[in-house]
Amino acid sequence: MKNKIDKIKNRIEQAALSCGRDPLSVELVAVTKTVSPEKVIAAARAGMFIFGENYIQEAMEKIDKIADSRLSWHFIGHLQSNKAKYVVRYFDLIHSVDSLKLAKEINRQANKLDKIQNILVQVNIAMEATKSGVTEKDTISLIRDISKLENISVKGLMTMPPFFNQPEKVRPYFKALAQLKEQIQEESIENIEIKELSMGMTGDFEVAIEEGATLVRIGTAIFGDRA
Ligand SMILES: *Cc1c(COP(=O)(O)O)cnc(C)c1O
Repeated sequence: MKNKIDKIKNRIEQAALSCGRDPLSVELVAVTKTVSPEKVIAAARAGMFIFGENYIQEAMEKIDKIADSRLSWHFIGHLQSNKAKYVVRYFDLIHSVDSLKLAKEINRQANKLDKIQNILVQVNIAMEATKSGVTEKDTISLIRDISKLENISVKGLMTMPPFFNQPEKVRPYFKALAQLKEQIQEESIENIEIKELSMGMTGDFEVAIEEGATLVRIGTAIFGDRA
């Protein structure tokens, strides 16, 4: 485990240096869907700190079992409004907010806990019918609306492009997300400072880093193929 994690960290560092970026500007999210609590603990011992989960029920059981307050949990899966109350309780960052309805419910639940919930807006940059995410053209107006919600802080954008494992085919989508981030910054929306770009997985994270990723979400390269 330590060996695999060190290798990934090393590849992240090389990718960052190769394009003149500070390696510390890229954070590794270890994706632990279907991974046992024991393996998560082993990964934490091997130097992992941020973990990404997709399914709320599985995540809550795992997080409660591991019960280590030093770890940071990110929610990266598709999220329905009726699960918002759990996600707000368990997660430091939600990568997958893609509607005002969902944002409002997260805001309501965060308000009850007296918490400012950090989120990313998930963009369906390739406009795939099967994927979640707001369309590119609706992203700015969604962020404007969310910016008015007091218990949510928008930190950046996330995408799940097609063709993962074929890095050069994915590059244009990563580029498009980075451009969209620039566009949003130019809008100077009150209360909004978009810094994070969550993009890149096992098969394409180096290209994502070259295009500006600040959070890479990696499962298979750390934990092996999922059952
Ligand atoms: C599963 C998953 C990942 C990790 O994918 P790997 O190819 O195993 O690295 C990243 N992001 C999301 C949203 C996922 O669901």
